[in-house]
Parts: sequence; C-alpha cells; structure tokens
Amino acid sequence: MISQKVFLPRIGASPALLSFRSISVQSEFSKNFVKCNGLNRAGFSGLVFCPGMLFNSMEKWWGDAGRRSRPHEGVDVLLYMDIHGQIHTLDTATKIPVMYSGETAAVHDDFLGKSMYVRHEIYDDRGWQLHTVYGHVTPVNGVQKGGIVKGGDVIAEIADGRRKNAQVLSHLHISMAWISETVPCELLNWETMGNSDMVMLLNPLEVMQLKKEQVQTSSKIKTSGRGVCRPHYSNK
Ligand SMILES: [Zn+2]
Repeated sequence: MISQKVFLPRIGASPALLSFRSISVQSEFSKNFVKCNGLNRAGFSGLVFCPGMLFNSMEKWWGDAGRRSRPHEGVDVLLYMDIHGQIHTLDTATKIPVMYSGETAAVHDDFLGKSMYVRHEIYDDRGWQLHTVYGHVTPVNGVQKGGIVKGGDVIAEIADGRRKNAQVLSHLHISMAWISETVPCELLNWETMGNSDMVMLLNPLEVMQLKKEQVQTSSKIKTSGRGVCRPHYSNK
C-alpha cells in the first residue's frame, strides 16, 4: 500500500495539470502492461491513440466518428505500434495491471463488460482520494469489491464486447480522478464520474510513464461499420 499522504497546493485554473506537476504519483502501468502481456516479444514500440481516444476529447473514434455526448472521461487503450511502425489492435483478454496499490471500491456492468473502481491511499490537499477506473473489462478470478490489490497486479482483462453486440471494438478505458469522501461507493458510476462536482477527472497519460515517442496520436486510423478499426498509412 502507498501509505504517505500527498499534499497539493491549492487547486488553480488548470487543476489536472497542476496536480500532476506538483506531486509524484507516477505509475509503472506502461512497463507492467507491456511485461504482463508479453508485448516486447511482438516488438512493442508504444501505445497509439487516435484523437478521439484521448482525455477530454469530444470526438468518437468508432462508428460514424461523430461527436461524443460529453467530454471523454479518460483514455482508450486499443492500439500499439511495433518497432517496424505497424499498428496492432490489442486482443480481448489482454491483461490489465492496476496502476497503484489500493482497494477495489466498486465493480459494475458497462456496455462492453464491467467497470472496476480502485481507490488508492493517495490524497490531495482537500482530502479527496485518488481513484483509477478500468472500463470494459472482465475482472480476473478473485478480484472483487472490497479486495486489496498491489500496484502492478493483474486485476482484469479486456472484455469481449461482441457478446454485448457492441458497436465499438473491445478496448480498455482508463479514468483517473480525485473523488471526495462524500461520494459513497454505491455512487461510483459513469454518471457520477462525468457530472459530479465531487469528482475531478485527471488525464491518465500524465502519470502512465509513456516515453514521449511512445505516445503517438494518429488521425489516420479509419473506423467503419461495427467498430472495425483499420490503420491507414498515408506514406505507403
Ligand atoms: Zn473511453
């Protein structure tokens, strides 16, 4: 468990950026993610994000590629590039390591699988607690509400959304947020995450320890039909 409290300066105009510049809550998520999925064997070079997969984006990256109903509450992890520049989609059953030690506070169904909310012993200066959320997943055996997890433990796999007739490719959604202690576990859901004054969303990419060249945004990923995602190469 992370035992020390982290104190932040008063939240200013750009709270998310201020928070992560001011404290050290870097997660070894990326290293653990590559390791537990054996992606180095595939010549992993870095995760790739279409603009619509990024935090706060108003764009969809699937279906009609229109507008989202509200800003994206996190990042969508689906694509990675190998050392030859080829883009791959992650398989369903890709393993998901938890970003920090903590306690599983809630698990509920979402439109592709389940969403898991993990709270960590990391606080801001108001006493709001850091939460990470893993959406569209299947919890692995033994991980359930109330369970204690250690940073790097595999807690879930990407769910196979085809079982739910999804219009989007199976992928991992990650959210991070400071959440007030006044929000009970029962209210940890997407409605609260997107709308509550008691939740301050953060950009997960700020702490995922991706090297700069590993974060590539690409608008050349074309989506069509039922979430079919086809990489396009303008220079080939
Ligand atoms: Zn998402």
